[in-house]
Amino acid sequence: MKIVDHIKNAQGKTLFSFELLPPIKGQSIQGIFNAIDPLMEFNPPFIDVTYLREDYIYKQHANGLLEKVAYRKRPSTVATCAAIMNKYRVDAVPHLICGGFTKDETENALIDLQFLGIDNVLVLRGDARKSDSSFIPTPNGHAYASELLQHVADMNKGKYLHDDMESPEKTDFCIGVAGYPEKHFESPNLDTDFKYLKHKVDCGADFIVTQMFFDNKKYKEFVDKCRQNGINVPIIPGLKPITSSKQLISLPKIFHLDIPLELSEAVQACKSEKEVKEVGIEWMINQCKELKEMGAPVLHFYTMGNPEPTKRIAQAIF
Ligand code: FAD
Repeated sequence: MKIVDHIKNAQGKTLFSFELLPPIKGQSIQGIFNAIDPLMEFNPPFIDVTYLREDYIYKQHANGLLEKVAYRKRPSTVATCAAIMNKYRVDAVPHLICGGFTKDETENALIDLQFLGIDNVLVLRGDARKSDSSFIPTPNGHAYASELLQHVADMNKGKYLHDDMESPEKTDFCIGVAGYPEKHFESPNLDTDFKYLKHKVDCGADFIVTQMFFDNKKYKEFVDKCRQNGINVPIIPGLKPITSSKQLISLPKIFHLDIPLELSEAVQACKSEKEVKEVGIEWMINQCKELKEMGAPVLHFYTMGNPEPTKRIAQAIF
């Protein structure tokens, strides 16, 4: 079922969902099931599976020459989605990224997804590879999420890349995009970022999932600004509790967000990592209670392979 229909059917009740990473190459699917099982009691209508782009490694040969080799640590978003749907009978939402795919490869992946009965996709540009200083579009691939979105929207109308005529065999994907309450880091300002977010919605995005944030004021301002700018699709807050003191540095660095002073000081005052985790979970429980009161359609958790903190929060909320 489409995410927008899950939200409609909930009739104003806040839903619970989460996302996880595909398994490390060589691991069995049981690792994924172990990350999902503890969270199924909260009835997630959908589970997202992220996509990790391949990177390059350099292999040195006996003659001293270096060979650049594409390398994937977590290969199978589509297979992970299929396994989740098969075992749990919930909707799996694959993340699709521009980076690393030609348009043909993207179209083939979408055809496979439709064949598997997957109704939703979250379309993203993806980040730069670790070995590149900025995002480099793949030759004959999409440069922005909006282009990828347009591709999916075209397929929903029966327009395929190499067909001269519209096909009656249309896909029917419900399409999500990313939004940034604290601005995407490459954008010169929030208004410019908004312009491109609006463009994604105008191209056919059905819902928005936000980058994580720790201050609900940022989410509220973001939602208000969206509504004032004619963005009327559901805006799903993306959430992650702080679980270690190192994250005071790593989260702002990786995700370009602010941690409120009250939270950072509470973490810094902790005497152990166990205490930090408790502070992070407590903060997120309070955030979630308020988001629920604010009418957030879904509380969507970035579990990063560790379901336990999310379970504790969900127990307090749902
Ligand atoms: P875009 O919407 O394309 O925007 C990228 C930047 O370009 C922004 O600064 C925007 O303002 C600007 N821009 C957009 N359109 C134009 C235009 N036409 N001209 C000029 N500038 C433009 N990454 C992964 O690799 N895998 C994942 O699974 C993944 N999941 C994510 C899930 C969520 C909910 C979020 C919030 C992020 C996720 N990311 C993931 C990270 C994401 O790929 C990065 O944040 C990436 O840098 C931007 O992706 P985007 O889809 O927002 O890009």
